[in-house]
Amino acid sequence: MSKQTFVVVGANSAGGTAAATLRTEGFDGRIVLIGTEPHLPYERPPLSKEYLRGETPRERAFLRPAGWWEENGVEVLLSTTATRVDAEAHVVHLDAADEVSFHKALIATGGRNRKLSVPGAELEGVHSLRTFEDADAIREEARAGRRAVVIGSGFIGCEVSASLRQLGVEIDVVDPGKAPLLRVLGPEIAAVYDGIHRDHGVRFHFGEVVSGLQGSNGRVEAIQTQSGLELGCDFVVVGVGIQPVTEAVEDSGFDLTNGVGVDARLRTSHPDVYAAGDVANHDHPLFGRRMRVEHWDNALRMGVAAARSMLGTGGSFEHPHWFWSDQYDTNLQYVGFATEWDELVIRGSLADRRFVAFYVKDGLVRGVAGMDRGRDVRRSMGLVSAARPVDPVALRDEDVDLKHLAASLTATAG
Ligand SMILES: Cc1cc2nc3c(=O)[nH]c(=O)nc-3n(C[C@H](O)[C@H](O)[C@H](O)COP(=O)(O)OP(=O)(O)OC[C@H]3O[C@@H](n4cnc5c(N)ncnc54)[C@H](O)[C@@H]3O)c2cc1C
Repeated sequence: MSKQTFVVVGANSAGGTAAATLRTEGFDGRIVLIGTEPHLPYERPPLSKEYLRGETPRERAFLRPAGWWEENGVEVLLSTTATRVDAEAHVVHLDAADEVSFHKALIATGGRNRKLSVPGAELEGVHSLRTFEDADAIREEARAGRRAVVIGSGFIGCEVSASLRQLGVEIDVVDPGKAPLLRVLGPEIAAVYDGIHRDHGVRFHFGEVVSGLQGSNGRVEAIQTQSGLELGCDFVVVGVGIQPVTEAVEDSGFDLTNGVGVDARLRTSHPDVYAAGDVANHDHPLFGRRMRVEHWDNALRMGVAAARSMLGTGGSFEHPHWFWSDQYDTNLQYVGFATEWDELVIRGSLADRRFVAFYVKDGLVRGVAGMDRGRDVRRSMGLVSAARPVDPVALRDEDVDLKHLAASLTATAG
């Protein structure tokens, strides 16, 4: 039998990891990794942190050393976009007027930044952040004493604000919500972040919806909001979320509700096509729902899981999800996926900005966030995975080891 061809569409964290895993876990056929960007797979987290601040070079961000792909027989087609994945015909069409036939394909096309749809959004000096080039362009602007408006106070907006403050840039943040990171972390921890940023000189403008950007000679000079607030600036960074990139599979018949719908083994409705990373809206057995998350660790883990599924060696993807965020000298880690909770149990102190917070719903720990207590968050992973009722007193008690507590829940369940 002739060797098979596996094609991976999207050459970043999820796609790159999947292609590498296929090879390291024994696939001896042809692997073709297709990516729109001109770069080998790289990690985006440094782009809002040390890379943005000019502290680390590009080389540090690459997923594998440059020579790895060729040495391991992975054909990487850079600056190449898959225009259409024809699952029935088992063909990926490329913008290079070319095509690649496949036995199995993985969709790892990630996300693209949402745009502001207001007048002036296309002015020079208005940036968003997803790629090396975006980070370079923002760093070019970031000189001490210049003024930036950051639109959006989610993770990207907050991390960029922190890095720019560290570079001496004056920052105004505009957001329609009530506090930074509110949707994911809830009001108590959002209030902690509000304090941290204000202590570093960030000016927040909450409850404000941007209505337009103004400039002269084609370059931004100010933003306005619907309430009439006007903020002068030298540049703007827009961080208002991402949208999954699904054009290549638009007519595939796959469920494209919020990304590419896949089951717990990361399979689409076509037996030979899979999806992973930011684009994948996956059935999660632990949380009993479909979910799409936008985290680096998830992209890597799903890349591995998808490769194993393609090889027929994988099980269902049940990792409880973990991510982190660095802002100034503060490290947040989070495990789980809590969209609603009836109690937030705190171990440590919100006031001291050193705590572990447990998001409890119906007695179960659905999410854990920790500030400068990453080890405790990682030791709490089993509490989320166990999905068993936990005594809040034990969660609060510093003398109770969280990993042992999780193990005791699992033992009780068994
Ligand atoms: C600035 C920044 C900071 C971040 N910081 C953190 C952090 O601190 N912690 C954390 O957990 N997560 C962080 N993330 C999120 C994390 O980087 C993403 O979850 C991760 O990049 C997702 O990887 P992916 O491979 O699924 O998608 P992507 O990284 O979006 O990669 C998809 C790739 O596919 C390519 N592509 C799309 N369509 C096609 C097509 N049709 N043909 C060929 N190629 C295509 C794209 O050009 C892109 O290169 C950050 C993200 C950004 C932007």
